[in-house]
Amino acid sequence: LLRIEQVSKSFGGHRVLCEVSLDVHAGQVQCVIGPSGSGKSTLLRCVNLLETPDSGHVYLDGEPMGHRWKNGVLHQMSAGRLAVQRRQMGMVFQGFHLFPHRRVIENVTEGPMVVNKVDRATARRQAMELLSKVGLAEKAEAYPESLSGGQQQRVAIARSLAMRPKLMLFDEPTSALDPELVGDVLDVMRDLAGEGMTMVVVTHEMGFARDVADHVVFMDGGVVVESGPPEQIFGAPEHERTRSFLARVL
Ligand code: ATP
Ligand code: MG
Repeated sequence: LLRIEQVSKSFGGHRVLCEVSLDVHAGQVQCVIGPSGSGKSTLLRCVNLLETPDSGHVYLDGEPMGHRWKNGVLHQMSAGRLAVQRRQMGMVFQGFHLFPHRRVIENVTEGPMVVNKVDRATARRQAMELLSKVGLAEKAEAYPESLSGGQQQRVAIARSLAMRPKLMLFDEPTSALDPELVGDVLDVMRDLAGEGMTMVVVTHEMGFARDVADHVVFMDGGVVVESGPPEQIFGAPEHERTRSFLARVL
């Protein structure tokens, strides 16, 4: 479903990603782990072209992100087309970025109504289903500021799902939360994985990676050092760098 092919990215001469390749199949959950500054966020941002890779390509469902074929040649696509393509991926960040002046349900219905032209009644019905799914149906009429961080993050996930993405990208969705709120968010993500959503999750939650991931990717210094099923990465890591990282975080 998602193919990352030899993506490189530098910032001011500093190489942050060096020919990173990754294949994510439909229904798979891949967790990306690694030390701070290893390029995990930059990689996710390159996937939906919030950052433009210096070289390499990203394909979603076989379609090159940001480019399209015309007369056998790849052309840069227009901003409008890119926006359409980007919407096929949901992204959830560390911060929740909800609209503060809108009620919870309005945060969820906004995208479908404005962008996808879904009528209000349908958008509200679907939003309520999603809010139930994340355990927040009773907060539909509340304002974000009255919710805990964990609840806000679950609203952010529901809002993202409302756009019916093919794929969800998560960048440390729980690392800004108080420890007691982390579990509820991870449970929502676990359910989502169980329903077959394709997910790429950058996380420091090793328990989640071990239990939920089909595939774990360890990055360090802008390269994929090692990747494989969680039993291999956590149970029998091959590389010294993986071992020393795990020794620090586990
Ligand atoms: P963390 O676990 O702390 O979130 P990370 O693995 O997500 O780290 P990145 O945020 O991808 O790491 O950053 C990788 C490197 O790229 C860092 O050295 C960072 O300072 C640098 N970097 C990231 N974005 C930019 C930018 N827009 N301009 C300049 N340097 C950047
Ligand atoms: Mg990061």
